[in-house]
Amino acid sequence: MKIFKDKISLQKEILNKPISFIPTMGGLHKGHISLIKRSKKFKKKTLVSIFVNPRQFNKKSDYRSYPRNKLKDVSILKNLNVNYLYIPSIKDIYGFKPKHKIYLDKFSKKLCGKFRKGHFEGVINVMNRLIQIIKPKTIFMGKKDYQQLFLIKKFISRHKINSKIIECNTVRQANGVAFSSRNSLLKPNDIKIASRIYYFINKIKKKFDVYNFNFLKTEMIKLGASKVDYIENYNIKKNFIKSKKYNKNCKIFIAYYIKNVRLIDNI
Ligand code: AMP
Repeated sequence: MKIFKDKISLQKEILNKPISFIPTMGGLHKGHISLIKRSKKFKKKTLVSIFVNPRQFNKKSDYRSYPRNKLKDVSILKNLNVNYLYIPSIKDIYGFKPKHKIYLDKFSKKLCGKFRKGHFEGVINVMNRLIQIIKPKTIFMGKKDYQQLFLIKKFISRHKINSKIIECNTVRQANGVAFSSRNSLLKPNDIKIASRIYYFINKIKKKFDVYNFNFLKTEMIKLGASKVDYIENYNIKKNFIKSKKYNKNCKIFIAYYIKNVRLIDNI
């Protein structure tokens, strides 16, 4: 695996090579690994980036405490036979003017957009720059971050960028909890809370229209959540229309805290 810390040497290496790209913020886990394994099935070179993007954090303390484990990440990626790893500095990413303007679909105002001001601007900003640097043929992204995935697809289609997004299923622990880098900030008992919340949402989802937000929020708090940002049902097949009734085209989107750790999922 070749490791690059600056875009000039990376671009020299990958020029004219078809690239499959997996953007990450590191703290690698089985969710990331599933994306990489999927990419390895394609005949292109697999490039993983690790960049904890300061602009998508709306709290400095959250950016500072975000899990980082470079040595472990590098060893995981080497074992997976990843071709290229790009670990840019902040200047490497933000020290140039990108070709495309940030485009945010109106859906960016909903869900996490409502609770994390500037978050999606930060996400699209960094993806715009990474795509311009790497020019990937395919990009592998997880449905765990469905709103992000949706907004990046809208950005790519708006600017007619020649990169195809491959949507990958959410990988979960046996107890239902979605793998997430932030899980490493949780204690075993906190993971049990997350698991109970996962089963609770599964249990109520078919009768979602019967409950109101305050009831669901109170139940989640009883299960151990410290705070609930949202529990909302969207029809993801119908261009993200909020829906009262749950059906097979719907996902329940949740964001909540266990202590000061914010978790999101869609079930
Ligand atoms: P992150 O490092 O959290 O920015 O995530 C990098 C990529 O991995 C994103 O496309 C995520 O959606 C994806 N991802 C994160 N967690 C999971 C998971 N549990 N299952 C599948 N993909 C995931």
